[in-house]
Amino acid sequence: MSSVKRVCVYCGSSGRVAESYRAAATRVGTLLAQAGIELVYGGGRIGLMGLVADAVLAAGGRVTGIIPGFLHGRELGHAGVSELIVVDSMHERKQRMFELADAFVILPGGLGTLDETFECITWRQLGLHDRPVLVVDVDGYWQPLMRLMDQVVESGFAGQTARDLFKVVLTPEEMLEALATAPEAALPHTAERV
Ligand code: AMP
Repeated sequence: MSSVKRVCVYCGSSGRVAESYRAAATRVGTLLAQAGIELVYGGGRIGLMGLVADAVLAAGGRVTGIIPGFLHGRELGHAGVSELIVVDSMHERKQRMFELADAFVILPGGLGTLDETFECITWRQLGLHDRPVLVVDVDGYWQPLMRLMDQVVESGFAGQTARDLFKVVLTPEEMLEALATAPEAALPHTAERV
């Protein structure tokens, strides 16, 4: 049985993207809420971030947004979320998001999403957590990342086990299935470990 109660979603702050990415963000939010899983995210109301949060809220779910004060204006902090935590820095934001989540979901996004994704994966590589990391490969968006992973492993910069640090799913439905069957994380959530 899954122990996943709260999922951190990393995704783009841009909304000027293909409709398939926008639809996937909305679907992820709806499915999480319907499954009774809370959303933790970066707190903005723009782009895919806003779509995920709106969908969770529309389906009656709970949303915790974590946003640094200086981005509150730029990313337009979402006024409708269940809880909006304003922090002092990007590092604190990532730390709080990391601490609160039982699992991580990565949707299409830009440089910020890449940063968050790599931090989440490399912290797992270092044994700082053992929580599921799911990459939702909507319309093959993350295929270049998979090729980069192949290159990293084939060149000897990481072992074969690096491929097990995250799981690729193709649809929001597959994401939910993976969350539902995720084994209990072996390591507790302890900020001190990081
Ligand atoms: P993006 O994928 O670039 O649209 O960004 C997605 C989210 O990541 C936004 O909330 C950004 O504020 C955030 N972000 C951007 N740069 C960083 C960074 N260096 N560390 C953590 N988050 C970031």
